[in-house]
Amino acid sequence: MTDLPVYSPSETEDYLQCPRYRVLRRAIEPRTAVWAPNITLGNTIHAGLAMYYDPRQHERSVADAQAIARATLEEGYQEQDEWTLEGLWQLAQRGMKATIDADLLNGVVIGTELAISRMRLDVLERYPDGLQTLDWKVKLKLEKRNLPYRVADFDPSWQLLQNAWGVRQAYGETPKWARAVLIVLSPRVFIHPHAIKITDERLDDFGSSCAQVWRGMEGDRLAYDEGVLPPMNTRSCNAYGRPCDFKPFCHDLYGDMQQALATLYQPKEDTRSDEEHRAL
Ligand code: SF4
Repeated sequence: MTDLPVYSPSETEDYLQCPRYRVLRRAIEPRTAVWAPNITLGNTIHAGLAMYYDPRQHERSVADAQAIARATLEEGYQEQDEWTLEGLWQLAQRGMKATIDADLLNGVVIGTELAISRMRLDVLERYPDGLQTLDWKVKLKLEKRNLPYRVADFDPSWQLLQNAWGVRQAYGETPKWARAVLIVLSPRVFIHPHAIKITDERLDDFGSSCAQVWRGMEGDRLAYDEGVLPPMNTRSCNAYGRPCDFKPFCHDLYGDMQQALATLYQPKEDTRSDEEHRAL
C-alpha cells in the first residue's frame, strides 16, 4: 500500500454517498447558500477540548480551553439573522463543560488533534489493555429519543475505522477500541460515548476497502481535472430528508458547469470547513 492515495474520512464518506457530490461540494456552492453554525460550533468545541486534554500543557485549564474556543468561534462566525455570537458561545460552553464533567478520558493521553496521513485524530489514549482512538461528534440538536438512530450512524462508521487504521499505519500497533463521543447541545445538553471493538483482522479487511475506494477517488479527481464529472448516485439526491444542494445542477442543468456558474452556483472559495467536517 505504499503509493496508496489516502483521503480524509469526511471526503471518503461524501464519495461513498455520491461520487459526484464529493467533488461538487468542494468546488462550487449554491449562490443562495446561507451560513449555518454547525461546522463552526463543532470546530469551536474541538479546539477547546484539544487544548484542555493536550498532554503538552502543564495542567488542564478550562480558561485556556475557553480562550481558544472563543477565538475559533469568532473566526468562523458570520453575521446573519438566526444566530447571535453570544447565543452560540453559550451553547459551545455548555457542550465543553458537560464533556469535561463526564470525565471520559481515563487513559494516558498520547496526543490531541494528531495529524495522521490525511486525517486528524481528535484524541489518542493508552489504556492498560492498549490504544484507544476518540472522535468528538458535535450535534447541534438531537432529541434523546432519537439517540439510537444517531448511534447507528457510527457503529460502525468509516471515520472510526479509518481512525484505527491510521493509528496502526502510523504507530505499528492496532488500537483495541475506536470510540466516538457524541456531544449534543440542544434542546438539552447531553454526552453519549460509544466504542467499537478493533482487531487486526478487522483492519486488514477495512484496508482492502480503503485501497479500492481511494483508488476510485483518485481516478475521479484526475478525470474531474480533465472536465469529466464523476458518476451520480441518484439514491442520495434526497437523502437525509432534504434535497441535495446539487439537485438543480444534476437534474435541471444536466451537469453543465458553464451554465451552472452563470446562473445558480458560484465557485467555493473556502473548503477548509468541509475538510474539517466537525459537526452534524
Ligand atoms: S443531486 Fe444526486 S447525483 Fe447530483 S450530486 Fe447530489 S446526490 Fe449526487
